[in-house]
Amino acid sequence: MAWSGLRGRPQDLPWAPLELGQPVGLFTGRKLVALGEQPVRCSALLTQAGVRYAAMPPRRPAQAQCGYESAVRLERGGARQIALAPATVAVSCPVAAALAMWEWDVVAPAAQRHFGARVSRIDHLGSYACRRLYGRSSGGWSEHATANALDVAGFRLEDGRRISVLHDWHGEGARAAFLRDVRDGACRVFATVLSPDYNAAHRDHLHLDQAARGATGWRACR
Ligand SMILES: [Zn+2]
Repeated sequence: MAWSGLRGRPQDLPWAPLELGQPVGLFTGRKLVALGEQPVRCSALLTQAGVRYAAMPPRRPAQAQCGYESAVRLERGGARQIALAPATVAVSCPVAAALAMWEWDVVAPAAQRHFGARVSRIDHLGSYACRRLYGRSSGGWSEHATANALDVAGFRLEDGRRISVLHDWHGEGARAAFLRDVRDGACRVFATVLSPDYNAAHRDHLHLDQAARGATGWRACR
C-alpha cells in the first residue's frame, strides 16, 4: 500500500499515537501491548475515550511472578461503557484498552450484523490467577498471573438472548458466525487469542491476553 493511501488513516501509521476511539488499524495491536510499559499514558487513553474505570490497589503476593501494580476495574456509565459480568474483575490497563476497542469496533457491529441487537454484557471467567500455563507445576507463567488476560465465556444481548462459547461455537448458524467474527476481530487488538479451535482447554472460552513478546512482537491467533 502506498503511504499516500494512508493519509487520513492515522490508525494505520506505526508512529501515529494511539487513540482508543479510532478504528482498529494495522499497528493498533502493537501499540496496545506497548501500553504495558506506559501505565500513566494507558489510563489517560481510557479517560480520553470516555471509559469509566477505577484504579485497583497493587497486588503483590509472595510469589514474585504474580501480582500487578496498575490494574483497573471497568465501571458502569460513561460515554462508552464496556459491561463485563461479573463487573468486579480487575484487568491490566492494556487488556482494558483492548476490550474497549474490541467492544466498539468488533463486538457491537458483529452483534448488529448477526442479530440486529446490542450486546448488554460480556460474560467472563476471570482474569487474575497466580498460576503457570495450563495450571502446570513448572514452565512459563500465564498472563493471568499478572491480570494481563481475560477469559470470555459468552455474550448477552439486550433482548435477553445469550451466546455461549461452549454451546454455540460449533454450528452453522448466526451464533457460531458471530463467535468466529469476534474471535477474528480480537486478534487485531490482543497479542494472544485462543479459542475452541486451539484445544479442548479452550472449549468454553476465548482467552485474550496482551503478552509482550519483545521486538518480534509475534501474535497468536487460534
Ligand atoms: Zn485464559
